[in-house]
Amino acid sequence: MTRNDAVVVGAGPNGISAAIELARSGRQTLLVEEADVIGGGTRTEELTLPGFHHDVCSAIHPAAIASPFFASIGLEVDWVQPPIPFTHPLDGGRVAALQRSVTTTAGALGEDAGRYRKLMGPIVDNIEEMVEVSLNPVSLNPKHKTAFARLAMIGGLPAALLAKRFHTEEGKALISGMSAHAIRPFHAPATAAVGLMLGAIGHAHGWPMARGGSASIAAALEARFTELGGVVELGRRVTDISELDADLTLLDVMPPAAVAIAGGRLGSSARRRMERWRPGSGVFKVDWALDGPIPWADPLSGQTATVHVGGSYAEVAAAERAVGRGEHPKRPFVLLAQQTLFDDSRAPAGKHTAWGYCHVPNGSTVDMTDAIETQIERFAPGFRDLIIGRAVRGPATQEQHNPNYVGGDIGGGVYGLRKVLQLGYSAPYRLGDDVFLCSSAAPPGAGVHGMCGFLAARAAIG
Ligand SMILES: Cc1cc2nc3c(=O)[nH]c(=O)nc-3n(C[C@H](O)[C@H](O)[C@H](O)COP(=O)(O)OP(=O)(O)OC[C@H]3O[C@@H](n4cnc5c(N)ncnc54)[C@H](O)[C@@H]3O)c2cc1C
Repeated sequence: MTRNDAVVVGAGPNGISAAIELARSGRQTLLVEEADVIGGGTRTEELTLPGFHHDVCSAIHPAAIASPFFASIGLEVDWVQPPIPFTHPLDGGRVAALQRSVTTTAGALGEDAGRYRKLMGPIVDNIEEMVEVSLNPVSLNPKHKTAFARLAMIGGLPAALLAKRFHTEEGKALISGMSAHAIRPFHAPATAAVGLMLGAIGHAHGWPMARGGSASIAAALEARFTELGGVVELGRRVTDISELDADLTLLDVMPPAAVAIAGGRLGSSARRRMERWRPGSGVFKVDWALDGPIPWADPLSGQTATVHVGGSYAEVAAAERAVGRGEHPKRPFVLLAQQTLFDDSRAPAGKHTAWGYCHVPNGSTVDMTDAIETQIERFAPGFRDLIIGRAVRGPATQEQHNPNYVGGDIGGGVYGLRKVLQLGYSAPYRLGDDVFLCSSAAPPGAGVHGMCGFLAARAAIG
């Protein structure tokens, strides 16, 4: 067995990013992945019918386009930018839309126009600093003090309080759709931060997708890694750190797996931290092959790849509250992507794909297909008639596909203050003298941005 300077276990976007940073520092690095393909949450497969290419996990990439690490390595992805970052249909053919321009978005919000401009304007005007603050661990001595203060004071709020500032159904709906990405009830602290940052990135950078599918992101990352002399080994599940011969080991896994793999090498406080970790709510996902584009009742949802399907703020809040209580909402909040409207390489001519999921209690076994499709049909009458193929993945299948999705949790653990406030630079990543956590269970958490991997590698390099 060749001794490596570093081994990274798990080739999701964070694992590959960690491996790139280690290789960039001149270390001979091996990247080991249990699946037969690289990418973890950034894979694309023919899940329904031949010729229909579906994003198995991530689909829409605001975090990737804003990622300082991806920018630093000149990641070569052909980003497709739909004209509108996202829409949020309401009953009666009405719709709220986050447009690229703050002014245009605000202009459609009637009496909420000024409130929206006042909220989003300063964040968008200082987007690079805001992104740096939000995609790094919280520091007691932040480099960008104003950006940090803004994020702490407004972002630290529950999304419910942020939504209260708005009076129109459209304004409230925008806040609800963005904040629901936290996968937490809206009364939970800091849920506003997720919505604000995703919205602000939408204005500044768009909500793009990768041409050909999110597997293109994994391929671009892999290309960088191998250019730097890195080696990838697929189809190998690591169960014990003693199998690996390296000076440094970085784990792109969830905390229970980190304990199982490297238990004897963990420091006592890191071990306690890993054992306190809890998975968040799960997701139930459906991919569709369609005979035509989704017939939205509103005039704007055909101009975006991302549609927040859930109705009014009150309905979305109720759905997320139900999931938080361990219940299955009758009218779930559905995150929907319609990639083929802007990327015809993903389906045969004239045909389309759609991707959608809703939140469910962790480990749920309830089939949400009908509830999801009923919600879409409500805002796009005729949707059901277009379905020619369907693939369904509940929490158990998600976890089978990728052990990091514990009970269907795609967020790397419960989002909340405990996760946000992991103080210190190296502490959140260091598990032992030579073992580090580089997955989305570490700061800054879920999403395809590679920052957990990059920051863990920097902590390991020292
Ligand atoms: C349905 C769904 C939709 C999503 N939508 C979006 C989206 O639109 N935009 C976005 O930014 N993010 C989205 N995400 C989240 C995003 O995919 C994750 O946050 C991201 O992939 C986390 O990256 P990671 O590298 O930490 O882990 P992962 O991507 O989960 O990769 C971990 C890898 O480690 C491997 N592994 C685990 N254990 C072992 C072991 N013992 N030995 C060897 N290999 C191992 C796994 O097989 C996997 O390949 C979505 C996720 C899902 C599931």
